[in-house]
Amino acid sequence: MQPIRRCLAVAALAALPLATPSLGQPAPAQATKPGIERLYILNCGEGVAGDSCYLIKHSQGWLLWDTGLADAIAAMPEGQRPADPRATHWRRPKTLVSQLDELGVKPSDIKYVAVSHTHPDHVGNMALFPQATLLVQKAEYEWPSPVGPRFKPEQPVTKLEGDHDVFGDGSVTIISTPGHTPGHQSLLVKLPKTGAVLLSGDAVHFKDNWDNRRVPENNDNQAKSAASLQRMADVMAKEKAQLWINHDKAQRDSQKLSPGFYE
Ligand SMILES: [Zn+2]
Repeated sequence: MQPIRRCLAVAALAALPLATPSLGQPAPAQATKPGIERLYILNCGEGVAGDSCYLIKHSQGWLLWDTGLADAIAAMPEGQRPADPRATHWRRPKTLVSQLDELGVKPSDIKYVAVSHTHPDHVGNMALFPQATLLVQKAEYEWPSPVGPRFKPEQPVTKLEGDHDVFGDGSVTIISTPGHTPGHQSLLVKLPKTGAVLLSGDAVHFKDNWDNRRVPENNDNQAKSAASLQRMADVMAKEKAQLWINHDKAQRDSQKLSPGFYE
């Protein structure tokens, strides 16, 4: 009898560790994978050019890149007609809020708002995100604007001086690209399946600017812009990144828009 009993005892001990995980532990399959999950392209306005915003889902929270034209323009039947007929006549077919809502995201869910720069078609909806931390270059924040302050003093802000790894894991990095404005910045996003994408901001307005390394008009500093285009080319070569150009409507028309997304 003795050997058999010992055998049973050993078998019972061996079975214990296998049985343990079922005793009240959460199913591991439910856990969110750490890191960046997906990117949505939102329609943030239409004119001669398109205006895009980008919403990034990371396990640490939501990041919105640019906020587009003010949502109020969506309620104007003819859009915002410029005083100067040569300037862009902007329309907003959908509000930013309605596109977030479609994804089940409330403005108060947004952890970070990063803006490429502070022209009105990029910061038009900052007021929707009073709780979010603004990520902006110090030079841009302090740039005097003829139309008055672009940010409320109570808006939480991290004033950057150069590149910035937003989540500390290299998945989303602000790249300093001054020139279009004093503190212009671009965004390098490393998506798990799509790969690396560089969001241009207004460092270039259209593909033609980029292909010919032509610095756009309406520029704060031509030499800095030219240096930034080179910097972007270097980053893209190193990271094998695609360039997504904010105002290039032709490119946007070829892309998946929200609620579609890129992983
Ligand atoms: Zn601009």
